Amino acid sequence: MTPTRYRIVASDPNAHLFEVCCTVADPDPGGQAFRLPAWSPGSYLIREYARHFVSVRAECEGVPVAVRKVAKDVWLADRCRGALTLVTEVYAFDPSVRAAYVDTTRAFFNGPSVFVWPVGREDRPCELEILPPAGDVYRDWRVATAMPRDGAEPFGFGRYRASSYDELIDHPVEMGRFDVVAFDAGAVPHTVAITGRHRGDGARLAHDLARVCQAQADLFGGAPGSRAPVDAYLFQLLAVHDGYGGLEHRASTSLIANRDGLPQPGATGVSDDYRSLLGLASHEYFHTWNVKRIKPAAFVPYDLTRENFTTQLWAFEGITSYYDDLMLVRSKVIGVGDYLELLGRQISALLRTPGRERQSVAESSFDAWIKYYRQDENAPNAIVSYYVKGALIALVLDLELRLHSAVTLDDVMRALWKRHGQTGLGVPEDGVQVIAAELSGLDLGAFFRDYVHGTVELPLPSLLREFGIGWNLRPSANAKDKGGAPGKDPAPRVWLGATLAAGTDLRLKHLSPEGPAALAGLASGDAIVAIDSLRASADGLERLAQTRNAGDVVEIHAFRSDELMRFSIELAPARNDTCWLTLAEAVGPEAAARRTAWLGA
Ligand code: ZN
Repeated sequence: MTPTRYRIVASDPNAHLFEVCCTVADPDPGGQAFRLPAWSPGSYLIREYARHFVSVRAECEGVPVAVRKVAKDVWLADRCRGALTLVTEVYAFDPSVRAAYVDTTRAFFNGPSVFVWPVGREDRPCELEILPPAGDVYRDWRVATAMPRDGAEPFGFGRYRASSYDELIDHPVEMGRFDVVAFDAGAVPHTVAITGRHRGDGARLAHDLARVCQAQADLFGGAPGSRAPVDAYLFQLLAVHDGYGGLEHRASTSLIANRDGLPQPGATGVSDDYRSLLGLASHEYFHTWNVKRIKPAAFVPYDLTRENFTTQLWAFEGITSYYDDLMLVRSKVIGVGDYLELLGRQISALLRTPGRERQSVAESSFDAWIKYYRQDENAPNAIVSYYVKGALIALVLDLELRLHSAVTLDDVMRALWKRHGQTGLGVPEDGVQVIAAELSGLDLGAFFRDYVHGTVELPLPSLLREFGIGWNLRPSANAKDKGGAPGKDPAPRVWLGATLAAGTDLRLKHLSPEGPAALAGLASGDAIVAIDSLRASADGLERLAQTRNAGDVVEIHAFRSDELMRFSIELAPARNDTCWLTLAEAVGPEAAARRTAWLGA
């Protein structure tokens, strides 16, 4: 088959523009249509990337050809004889991992946001030429991508190739100046390309990541006849002042993290920020199996023109979120105490989400496109995160299997890898339940009905006790309190039922419908200016919670838009919505053995 040829160049870094060409050797005799994805696999929101296409023209063997839009993301070129090229100019100034970015310091693109596909020719192999921006200042730029090279030098500009459009758009490309560190895991070479100003210890990062990746390769490699999913892997890491995010791809991941999260030279411990960077990398790496190859049937193949509905994101994101931190402790990159802190934070996040009583994770998965990815001030009251609750369902399933059967969730993942990952067969909507029930011999009907499709509270305290883990609850101290650790004295005694938005003014973000603030008439967006006629401050609110009693009435002045309003709030008792876990002291030998088998420590 004649390949589709692509060419991309950061044509004007100052104006944040890419020029992208797509050439079809034998265009449709009736007129060739080109189409752009509406979303990126892994990020479940219609993004309408075509809105960043500044100009589109076509030419055939150098002669202009008329092209017109026939839908928001479809261009139709007139009939022509000979090779047809669509030339597009794409505005690229999105700093996330999902789209495209160009300035004078770096350039990045995620394929769905820049590459059209020639309709009817999406299965053809693709050739890509990546050109450097013009100018001496870009002479030392390099290229980091997992796309197979087709003439380009390692980290060089030049020619790359993909077996299909689907592959072409699954290898994001970073261009600029970056540091490279490398390691082997699972007998596969891994590279980390670190972009952005930083003074992190790359060797330490590579050393720790190698252990995490090896633990994951061991987990999936335990299946008979298993093979590595990739023959090389790339972490693209952008170090920034304040950011966090990642997107998984078949042989790479794009990560954004705080530069202070990189391990500092000479430091030996694992800081909070470094632990979250490792957790992020572990999460995206686990996706190499779970979602990039073990896929919901609804994603086989992806329909890039519209939403792809599945009730299974809880399994693909939730199970991945369970294993991301678990792999850190199993590989001994963090200790058990650190792991329990992370788990306690995850449980606290769930306990602080009243929406867990309204929406199941199956519903949350299905409606990700219009709810999870488009959260508003009412989100905590109406929805539940399929990441957070999905991870805790995975924990509960793992512990139930360990307690009542001869298998574990690891065995379920290996079976999914063997039956779906290595075959390319999509996982049916009830696939995880069917495999877990088959391997364990347990009837898991009630489990999936109550916890996945229902809103029954997860039996976490009793299950964790069987594994020698103690469960503790306390009230949240302030907006920064994520849980996972014992609280500081004095503990809050009362609850307002509202959270504050980030920023210097005391602006309310989320209100619980049954909380004192909402009952008094306060609303999201109100800015508190005075409490009992004294100027309000974050410290003052924290002190109020520590010193006043339930039933006390306080007077609050707040601005709604530019109107000053007065509210009388009757304080409610503090709620125990924050969890911290401990290694239980008096543990029987059975619970201790179960804990060791589970955590590997
Ligand atoms: Zn994920």
